[in-house]
This record gives sequence, C-alpha cells and structure tokens, in this order.
Amino acid sequence: MELHQLTAYQLHEMIRRREVSCREVTESVLRRIEKVEDCLHAYITLTPDLALEQAAAADACFQEGEAGPLTGIPLAIKDVICTQGIRTTCGSRILENFIPTYDATVIEKLKAAGAVFVGKANMDEFAMGSSTENSFFGPTRNPWDLTRIPGGSSGGSAAAVAAEECIASLGSDTGGSIRQPAACCGIVGIKPTYGRVSRFGLVAFASSLDQIGPFGKDVRDTALMLNAISGHEPRDSTSVDIPVADYTKSLINDVRSMVLGIPKECFIEGIDPEVESSVREAIRTLEKLGAKAVEVSLPHSDYALAVYYIIAPAEASSNLARYDGVKYGLRARGNHDLLEMYRESRSQGFGPEVKRRIMLGTYALSAGYYEAYYRKASQVRTLIREDFQKAFSQCDVLLMPTAPTPAFKLGEKVDDPLQMYLSDIFTIPCNLAGLPGLSLPCGISREGLPIGLQILANHFQEEKIFRVAYTYEQNTDFHLRKPNL
Ligand code: GLN
Repeated sequence: MELHQLTAYQLHEMIRRREVSCREVTESVLRRIEKVEDCLHAYITLTPDLALEQAAAADACFQEGEAGPLTGIPLAIKDVICTQGIRTTCGSRILENFIPTYDATVIEKLKAAGAVFVGKANMDEFAMGSSTENSFFGPTRNPWDLTRIPGGSSGGSAAAVAAEECIASLGSDTGGSIRQPAACCGIVGIKPTYGRVSRFGLVAFASSLDQIGPFGKDVRDTALMLNAISGHEPRDSTSVDIPVADYTKSLINDVRSMVLGIPKECFIEGIDPEVESSVREAIRTLEKLGAKAVEVSLPHSDYALAVYYIIAPAEASSNLARYDGVKYGLRARGNHDLLEMYRESRSQGFGPEVKRRIMLGTYALSAGYYEAYYRKASQVRTLIREDFQKAFSQCDVLLMPTAPTPAFKLGEKVDDPLQMYLSDIFTIPCNLAGLPGLSLPCGISREGLPIGLQILANHFQEEKIFRVAYTYEQNTDFHLRKPNL
C-alpha cells in the first residue's frame, strides 16, 4: 500500500503516530502525479514546491502538537477558486495569466488547517459544462476509462482524487458540478447548503446558485473537509450565520427510524437501466438496514432544466461583463478604439460555450423579454423550492440517481449542447432550491464505470445526509473499488 492510496483520515492517524511524515505523504502524491498526470490531465497548474514547503510546515505543526485532521494532507483546488500568487484561470483563455492578489476564504481556512496544495485542477471554462471538455487547456480524462469524460465542471478535482493525484479536493457546484463528476469518477462529493460555505474568492458564475464543496475518497474525508471550510463570513453576504456542526459526529452507522423519500419523477425515460437498478438496489440496502422508504413527488422538477438555463446564463452574462480587457486578464492588441478592444478581447478570450451562455443570458435579461424569461423562471423556481418543502415534510432525505448515465465518451456530446445539459437533470433542482446534496458510489456498470447515488436534505441538514451516506458506505464496498490505471 502506498501513501497516496490512503484516505485523509488514515494518513492523519499514521502521521500522528509518527509512522510517516507529512513530507513523505506529499512526496508520494507528487510521484503519483508524475506517473499518471500525462495521461489524465487533471491539473492546469502544479505547485510541487509550495506543497513541499507546506508539508515541512505541517511536520513542524505535528512536532508542536498543533496539528488538526487536515494538517499535511495534499489537496487539489478547482481553478475557479482564487489562490494568492498562484494563477487562477477558470479554465479560460481570458484568465490564462491571471494571478490573484488574495486567497479565497476557503483557501485561508485550509491554510490555517495546515493543508498542502499540490495544484489547481482543470475545469470547464467558467464552470460551464458537464464534461471538462470546455476547458481552454484541453480535457481531463476519466481514470476509470481514458476514452471517457470525468464529468464536469469540476472534472479535474474529481479525477485527481479518483486517480490518487491528491487525497481530497475542492470543487464548485452551480447545477451539479461537484456531484456529477463525483459520480462519474466513483468518489464522494457534496454541495453544501447555499450559504454554508463562504464564496469570497470564488470566481462567480451564477451567484444565486454557486456553492463551493469538497470531494473525498469516502464519506468521512468529505465530512472532514466540509468541517474545515464551512461557516459564516462577512465578506460573502450570502454566507449564513448558523453554527457549523462537527460533521464527523454524524458518521453514525444507523438509519433506523429515518425516512427516505424517493421522488417518483426520477426514474424517467432516458435513464440508463444500470443506473436505475443500482439506485433501486441502494434504496433496498438502506431499507434492510432499518430505514423506511416512501414515495414522494416533485411535480415541477420537469421544468428545472429550463428554469436553470434561463437563470444561470442570465446571472453569468452579468458576472462575466467584468472581463473586458481593462482590469483582468487578456487584452487584445492593435485595436483602434475602446469598443473594438472590448469586442476583440472578449471574442478571443472566451470559448464557444461561454459565448453561448452570455448570449442566452443577455437575451433573457433584455428589455421586453425580462418578464417572459427571467421573471417567469424565478417564479417557477419558487414552485420547485416549494415541492421540496412538501417532500421534506414527509421524509428526512431524498434519494435519487446523481446522473442519468455513467460517464460518456469524450467528444460524444460536444456538438450537442442540449444533450450535454441533460447530464444535470437530477442535480439542478437541488441548486435551484439551495439544498445540500451529496453523491457517493453505489454501483459499477457492466462496462466497469462507477454509478452515483444522490442524497439530498433540507437546508442546513447536511448531518442527515452524512448519516445516511456513512451507513450506506459502511455496509457496502463500492467506495473501495479503484480504477485500474
Ligand atoms: N453543467 C451545468 C452547467 O453547465 C452545471 C455546471 C456547474 O455546476 N458549475 O451549467
């Protein structure tokens, strides 16, 4: 067993007992990166020198008895989260050389926890996509099958964990970008409640939907990561001042008396039969362990995708207006006047999917259309949120597939945006309602690809999610299957 194969929790125990040093752990991860990164491309930027420096500091923390559970643990950070002095590209040409002057709050918190940063993970440009193929820097490959996508938009963060190129990582989730790649790569990922984690320093895509969240090899590591990054912070006015639980206290192997809601809308046409049977089998497993399953209904979820593709592009078109060649990033040269410089910088700097979203969003917000599109979408969003409140009056958590199919082939959907958008059909409603949602492995397809189970709870009830997820994990072995790289 090599060190990069272990979980954060296992490594912490070994470091604490002085069986290994933080330096050795980081070196093991860096060796692994050297070995597999060329065929995966999970990272945009690697920071081995910083990692070794931080590992040495972490060893000193252990010497001084000041270490916590993430001290010395090598992490990957999605390249949409600002890191002081380390370029943060958002997977875009327009920010190819952008070096932030400050750290995001989550980075400050992880630094204070003594974590080690090995690099910035690849992603779809500005987090728009479901396959990481929209990265200006080229796609990431799925460690389970190099001809397939790792999911997206946090595909690099998920692939890096699955391929053991880091121990855990951070992603962001606007419509599924943590949960869907977690499912595709056979790992655990959670999108916390909107407001649970500060987004200060997260480059904005759709501000009413974006959340930062962790990926881990198992439920415990994911809980440890969420402990470290959660909490209110005045620099993000949407972060909520509600005390943060110690999520490791929810790692209880017991679901007796818990009620699982199964939305009847989720086993729809188009869902892969193996995904359906794995999720149904997972529900049966939890029932055998004492949980009660009830059917619930989310009648407006049919509209979720349509609502999302008004609201998210509208907000994106506004957020992305700041990239004009003046203050940030790429500036096109040789232009006669200011307008031409704006136009050229944006034409050259943004890729096709980002341009599509800006056009959709600008249209939806324009005079005369605003009422018909943005306002209508916001109203339907309220109905979707109310569906969930009704459902949660009958159950503790909702169970459903994370994605309708296992990871698809690279290139398969690049020319068909609508097909690509459908990858998020099960993850988007949760973002529209601001709910927490986790994906964990619940099966392997005949082709050897991981399948994800999604668990949702009401606002700020991450503890219920962790309890169900942990119980499921303790009684199954899907989280122990590894890709054969
Ligand atoms: N795939 C969805 C989109 O393209 C969600 C992306 C995300 O969650 N960042 O918008």
